[in-house]
Amino acid sequence: MIKHLLTLTVVFIASWGMNGLHAAEKIKVLITDGPQRAHQFQETTPVLKRILENVSLFEVDHSRSSKESCEDGSYMPNFSNYDVVVMNEGFGAADWPEATQKAFEAYMANGGGMVSIHAANNCWPNWKAYNKMTGIGGWAGRNEASGPYLYIDAKGEVIRDYSEGRGGAHGPQHEFEIVVREKEHPIMKGLPPTFKHGPDELYDRLRGPAENITILASAFSSEEQRGTGRHEPVLMTITYGKGRIFHSILGHHVEQMKEGSFVTTFLRGTEWAATGEVTIPVPKDFPDQEFE
Ligand code: ZN
Repeated sequence: MIKHLLTLTVVFIASWGMNGLHAAEKIKVLITDGPQRAHQFQETTPVLKRILENVSLFEVDHSRSSKESCEDGSYMPNFSNYDVVVMNEGFGAADWPEATQKAFEAYMANGGGMVSIHAANNCWPNWKAYNKMTGIGGWAGRNEASGPYLYIDAKGEVIRDYSEGRGGAHGPQHEFEIVVREKEHPIMKGLPPTFKHGPDELYDRLRGPAENITILASAFSSEEQRGTGRHEPVLMTITYGKGRIFHSILGHHVEQMKEGSFVTTFLRGTEWAATGEVTIPVPKDFPDQEFE
């Protein structure tokens, strides 16, 4: 009997210990997406999920909104179950229900985490809080009423330009050089000062509230590629209340997301948005590491 009790106790302690460890170690991620014409979110979301799940740190769920579930108000993920919510490109068809927007705003204000990928900064021009979270965005009627253009000038100064004009453009896909602007930020620490990415769309003329925003990295948008002749923000962080946001303009489609430059910055940005720290290392062969 005593032996039996002892065994039970040992089993109990062992399983409790494992669960305790499990809960403490895993970062819970929710990837959200929704209908949009310009981007193949059905194909890119599984890639984002695989990138995260290749690192044992993350546990990933997925939630897809539809026009119907937005219109009848039934789309309501439980954000508080997650350390970070990844907004994948999509969301063109409908606004999230107002109650869902309010729940997400409260989640973020209280210290939640968010990651905005590529065209996630195109959606919901009228949802004020969301535009504060992404900082800058494009298309969907954005203009001077959305906030200033944000870019870096030749001297390295961050410029907020309030002039009139549309928000959001890009030239043809091409390879471009990403320049690290915040070498000591946890997401960027250990990355080379410049690295190649692409061919991908280099967004330019993004504009928005641009509050509480840090440009981690930029890329020069050349006029030969129908760009602005400015250093455009590529990787950013934003704070919203106690919440942390990592914003990457990279990743038009599957091939771009599989590039080492995307994989490493996405992983480290997601960890940072969830915890405020980064433990995921930069691969020795960055940005040429293979992802399958
Ligand atoms: Zn795109």
